[in-house]
Amino acid sequence: MKLSFYGGVHPNEHKELTCAKPVEALRKAPAQVCMSMSMHLGAPCAPIVKVGDQVTVGQKIAEITGLGAPIHASVSGKVVAVEPRPSCGGGKAMSVVIENDFRDTFGSELTPHPDYETLTPGEIIGIVKEAGITGMGGAGFPTHVKISSGIGKVDTVIVNAAECEPYLTSDHRLMLEQGEKIVKGLKILMKTFGLDKGYIGIEDNKPDAIAKMQSLADGGIEVVVCRTRYPQGAEKQLIQRVTGREVPPGGLPAHVGCAVFNASTTAAVYEAVVEGRPLTQRIVTLTGGALNEPRNVLAPFGTPISHLIEEAGGFKETPDRILMGGPMMGIAVYDLSACTIKGNNGVLCMTKAEAAEHVEHAECIRCGRCVNVCPMHLTPVYMHLYAEKRRWDDAEAMHLMDCIECGSCNYICPARVPLVQSFRMAKFEIRGLAMKRKAAAEKEAKKA
Ligand code: SF4
Ligand code: SF4
Repeated sequence: MKLSFYGGVHPNEHKELTCAKPVEALRKAPAQVCMSMSMHLGAPCAPIVKVGDQVTVGQKIAEITGLGAPIHASVSGKVVAVEPRPSCGGGKAMSVVIENDFRDTFGSELTPHPDYETLTPGEIIGIVKEAGITGMGGAGFPTHVKISSGIGKVDTVIVNAAECEPYLTSDHRLMLEQGEKIVKGLKILMKTFGLDKGYIGIEDNKPDAIAKMQSLADGGIEVVVCRTRYPQGAEKQLIQRVTGREVPPGGLPAHVGCAVFNASTTAAVYEAVVEGRPLTQRIVTLTGGALNEPRNVLAPFGTPISHLIEEAGGFKETPDRILMGGPMMGIAVYDLSACTIKGNNGVLCMTKAEAAEHVEHAECIRCGRCVNVCPMHLTPVYMHLYAEKRRWDDAEAMHLMDCIECGSCNYICPARVPLVQSFRMAKFEIRGLAMKRKAAAEKEAKKA
């Protein structure tokens, strides 16, 4: 039973910028929020409100059209547009724009259940679905689907509180300030899966959070202290640390009996079930050496990045790059009018010197260091070579689809080859190719 994962890196953490900063409300609420219909993994939601409608905080404004989770208004006010608007990773996404009336009128249809023990697993899953909860660690997978597809297969539920991305401290502050919600949310998940044991994994660079969660953990909950090494917070690596089980290549956590939920997601489950609050806001770390006043804030979804930068006192120097998320897995922000979504745990504004730790530019020198650090036992150097030559079948044969996009290879690469960027693009192409081949096969089958 191996409790330590292969590979990984030790990037500079830079967490000191915000880890001691308590979570604060925004000093000024945004005048408008822009709610993207693509806040999660899966199919975009369809708006169910129109221009001119009045909405309340927590009111459902968009319904699922496939794999997904509904979306709720994050402020009260008037719908002023339903149209494509800039999204964080570039391009545009259909969005509902709400003009804030600054009244914060709450209007959720969810019923609080302080007596959650009396609920059935089906009722809990229904509440989680109606509350619009998706993975808040970045992946954005709909939480009700993760729970319902794991029932009967999962014997271990783990809260991912590792927060291994450099700079980010939103889950750290959540544990210190609202750890009770994580513990109770985990109890609700344990009840839903029919389990009497649950785990909370935390990296050992957060001793105060470990002490806090150990003081709160009861009723079959165990805090597992993990050695600080990136990407300890990746699902498969955390499962290995907590249970010793290895998720097979191409496999899912449920294949080894595990379900992993991010700390913020777990707290959101508590808020939905016990308090009747749908997911409308989250803690966001505003950080990086280019900001005057790095801090942690509670921001409604749909807040423009430009507004959050003002909340952090603006720029003290021109940032070299702005990312949604951390430096390893974050997404480059090309348009400051783009707005936050459910998976956005940070806005990182890096100085030139900071970005130099991660900047991408040159050619591979075949040193092999990327192979030594890949926690998925992949060969990034060859995957990249095939992707560069658009040899998608060869890239797939190198198990490129198993890449968890952790960025460890990028970080260690002395030539700063843009490996993850290349893998993201290759995955997109390989999925497209698979769909085309499937469609062609179906056409042939119909002809026969
Ligand atoms: S190939 Fe993928 S999984 Fe391996 S280190 Fe690079 S980004 Fe991480
Ligand atoms: S670490 Fe960078 S330079 Fe070295 S083999 Fe991998 S891609 Fe090439």
